[in-house]
Amino acid sequence: MCGIVGYVGPRPSQDILIAGLARLEYRGYDSAGIAVIDGEGHLGMRKKAGKLNMLRASLADAPLNDGTTGIGHTRWATHGGPTDVNAHPHLADDDKLAVIHNGIIENFSALREELLAAGVTLRSETDTEVAAALLGQEYAKSGDLQTAFQNVVNRLEGAFTLLAMHQDHPGLVVGARRNSPLVIGLGEGENFLGSDVAAFIEHTRKALAIGQDQIVSITPSAVTVTDFEGNPVEAEPFDVSWDAAAAEKGGWSSFMAKEVSEQPEAVANTIRGRVHDGQVIIPELDGMDELFTGINRVIITACGTASYAALVGKYAIEQWARIATDVELAHEFRYRDPVIGDDTLVISISQSGETMDTLMAVKYARERGARTLSICNTQGATIPRESDAVVYTHAGPEVAVASTKAFSAQITALLLLGLHMGRVRQTLTSSDDVAELAALPDKIARVLAEEHEHVTQMASWMADTRSVLFLGRHVGYPIALEGALKLKEISYIHAEASPPVSSSTDRSRSSSPASPCSCSCRRRATQR
Ligand code: GLU
Repeated sequence: MCGIVGYVGPRPSQDILIAGLARLEYRGYDSAGIAVIDGEGHLGMRKKAGKLNMLRASLADAPLNDGTTGIGHTRWATHGGPTDVNAHPHLADDDKLAVIHNGIIENFSALREELLAAGVTLRSETDTEVAAALLGQEYAKSGDLQTAFQNVVNRLEGAFTLLAMHQDHPGLVVGARRNSPLVIGLGEGENFLGSDVAAFIEHTRKALAIGQDQIVSITPSAVTVTDFEGNPVEAEPFDVSWDAAAAEKGGWSSFMAKEVSEQPEAVANTIRGRVHDGQVIIPELDGMDELFTGINRVIITACGTASYAALVGKYAIEQWARIATDVELAHEFRYRDPVIGDDTLVISISQSGETMDTLMAVKYARERGARTLSICNTQGATIPRESDAVVYTHAGPEVAVASTKAFSAQITALLLLGLHMGRVRQTLTSSDDVAELAALPDKIARVLAEEHEHVTQMASWMADTRSVLFLGRHVGYPIALEGALKLKEISYIHAEASPPVSSSTDRSRSSSPASPCSCSCRRRATQR
């Protein structure tokens, strides 16, 4: 989800790695680290939670020996909090092998069990270290890094950009990608890998695109690309046209445009690992069925955009889990005397997990004996720590002030939660909605691709308007509320939202409501 850079060539790599990570800062991150194979053929590694300056300061305090082969990483934690230990690189094979990873390894808990049963010691809580340890085991069998790497990536499910290097093979970095980005930068006597071209734009404008499920090996003089079976494939060359300023936003005109475009990925990552055999099973809620049984009421509490996602959640939970659900603005909740007790589940939603009013609402609910569950995009944040359970959205970092992909991911998490609760409470009658949910990322991608021109036209048509009214019914209503908020935040044009008031002849009143997860229905409703 965040940033990856790899280098092999004649130059000392540390500065190249750190500068590459700095160019990738626009992607957001919570920790950073590098590994370098020095001139003596020894692998050194340094990693730090926090911003790149923490890593820079640590390297200034206690320098690492430099070398000409290296990998660098910025992390947005998905498995385990943002700590030094969980930061990447992760090491294996007696610290001779380093691995970095962006994404989510969906089958990591089964692989982790397997490694622990084989007596392997794991130091972090990450899914990534599991891949590093597996690679260590595979490498021990053959001493061939490329074969070992190929065997490991074939065992991984989910989304990953994975890079590895071993001190026995200076001048070689291997990488692979599945549902996560990786590009090759071609230099003179040196080669680069990056999550995107920003990682190496200062050094070369010649690049090769790597396709889905492909493996790459770079040395100073050669680049090889294969599929996951080891068959050679032709990588597509392209010239980097971005200037350095554009590179800092991944080529987009604004962070918001970039984040809007990342919605399919954010939604897919939030669904990942949570749908099994046509059923929604959220692994983090394993063994926690009592959160959802024996309750009489659900309250969802949040502020701003998250409170509109909460409204979609209310519809979903009521429809699938058949339990009365209310949405409460977190900043009002604790200033009155709400009816809550141990038969109430309070669900809080906060992208950062630090929204003060939401945190206070959670604490207040706990004091009153309620069960608490949070939906959050930031591992290890305060609100999840204060809650009985957490369902993480995997939207990646959101830089723009106006929330876009985090909102879509919150809705996705709420739909998943509604389906999970419906299964646990045995109120879910069909698996059709689960299948609809799995199709959501593709539908969003289609809307973004097909409607872009239409939306641009509408925007110029609306640019001189004094006031805009957004109408929406059923789940279209919260979306209309969010649309009005977005317009106000971004353009300062006055906007309001309302459900359409049906006249007595309006036949749509008698038609059945849209399913909470049907985005085409939502659009229809918004336009009505
Ligand atoms: N899942 C990995 C972790 O939590 C990688 C996260 C990322 O994409 O940075 O460490």
